[in-house]
Amino acid sequence: MQGSGAVAVSEDVDLGGGFVLTCAPGEEALIVATALNGTGALGFASPPEVDARLDADAFAWVSRSNAMRGLRMRSLDQVHGSLCVPAGAVEATNSADAAWTASPDDLLIIRTADCAALWLVDPQRGQMAMVHAGWRGAADGVIEHTIGALRAQGTKPADIVVAIGPHIGPCCFEVGPEVATRFAGVAGAVRPASELTVPRQRADSFSLALGVVLVRALEDEGVPGDSIHAATACTRCSRAAGGEPLLHSYRRNGKGGPLMGSVGLLQR
Ligand SMILES: [Zn+2]
Repeated sequence: MQGSGAVAVSEDVDLGGGFVLTCAPGEEALIVATALNGTGALGFASPPEVDARLDADAFAWVSRSNAMRGLRMRSLDQVHGSLCVPAGAVEATNSADAAWTASPDDLLIIRTADCAALWLVDPQRGQMAMVHAGWRGAADGVIEHTIGALRAQGTKPADIVVAIGPHIGPCCFEVGPEVATRFAGVAGAVRPASELTVPRQRADSFSLALGVVLVRALEDEGVPGDSIHAATACTRCSRAAGGEPLLHSYRRNGKGGPLMGSVGLLQR
């Protein structure tokens, strides 16, 4: 496990959207999705010193937490697609980017580094889904398919509470015109390159607000805007007071780098 044992932060860090990187004295740091409080579900993400890329490392991490110990970890083979499968079918599925469950025995896990992990909880029916969404999955309908899967189980979109985890911000998400065109119809999603705070890689690029794309997709499916909570910290550029990166970033670390694990479970 990369950097295991390192203490990256010494006080709680607000990541926006109710996400808090906590570090109580004597306890392991943890990112908590406080927006899910009262929904019957819990959401956590791994702190900067944990690389959740491998199942064994992710399982070792969750097994250290009382809240997550003893659950079945449902690990997806993520492919930037749009398929949402039942948690019980994960092992039989070649590839999917979202899963849903109604069982408190399941621990859903999503791996990201710049893409977003989403928790969708229906407190009324005791169901939840987790989603891996970058621009490709969003463009291909992973949000629509996931809400469709929950609807098929009786969920009403108006009842869904959503937490969107830390992802790359419009400050750092440079995209070419071929990507920008896909989101031209989403108000506020495509921004001028002047909003980028990183050196541009190409002259014809734009800034993409992935969070805006995801919020609009959820609203279009009937999820109330005030039930959607999105982290504002940027995976690429947000840093602790001491200067250490707070989150794993593909664009900062490159291919094969560490991944953040985001997990969700239904309380018994
Ligand atoms: Zn940034």
